[in-house]
Amino acid sequence: MSQPDGKPAQGKKSFYCPHCGVLAQQSDSRLVKEGTGTVLTSRSRRDPRSIAQWSFSRCGVCENIAVWHDNQMIYPTASTLPGPHEDMPPEALQLYSEAAAVFPHSRRAAAALARGALERLLRHAGVEGRDLSELIVNTESEVPWALFQLLTSLRVLGNSTLHDEQGAPELVAVYLDEDDAEIAETIITVVNEACEALIAVPKRAERIYNAIPKAKRDYVEGQVDGVRKLAAAAAEHAEPEASAS
Ligand SMILES: [Zn+2]
Repeated sequence: MSQPDGKPAQGKKSFYCPHCGVLAQQSDSRLVKEGTGTVLTSRSRRDPRSIAQWSFSRCGVCENIAVWHDNQMIYPTASTLPGPHEDMPPEALQLYSEAAAVFPHSRRAAAALARGALERLLRHAGVEGRDLSELIVNTESEVPWALFQLLTSLRVLGNSTLHDEQGAPELVAVYLDEDDAEIAETIITVVNEACEALIAVPKRAERIYNAIPKAKRDYVEGQVDGVRKLAAAAAEHAEPEASAS
């Protein structure tokens, strides 16, 4: 399974640029010792003269640089935003990265992009609905109650952004109210939490469940099936009485 993974990492050939948010080629340069001085070179990090894992990546699209040390991006320290969840699907990751990139400059734009990321994430997870508002309503049985409450408040806050049906969330930023600037960070956090609940947890559960020997799984599934049949029979039995009263 080889999904395009655009997460920024030191030495990677391409990732979502922290400046422009585009999935772009990144050229990598490293600090190395040369003679008595220090130079920047495009040689590999395995070069024995590399200095303490410092490097610079330059975006092939906007040409801005990022500074790295020991696998951590030091610059731009764009914000205190959490990084994307490791299981975030690529189509949501793209907008998430754009939201994080634009956050220091425009929280309203970041909020709109993060909503777009949330919408793509929910659709990827198989939630159905015409727009984000409807998608959120339909997560009720899928996510923990606290997360559902948080999602529901996002439906109400800045409701003007929820009516984009063409999947172009970047175009609706201008319709955000001034108050929405405050909630960009919350939405971005919620995207990660929804990813955990709707994608990561089911994935982990499936892996663990499939590790149980098949005979045991069949036995448990048989028990569940038996309980369901009993419940259905009881409901059928109770129905005539209910309609007679
Ligand atoms: Zn860039």
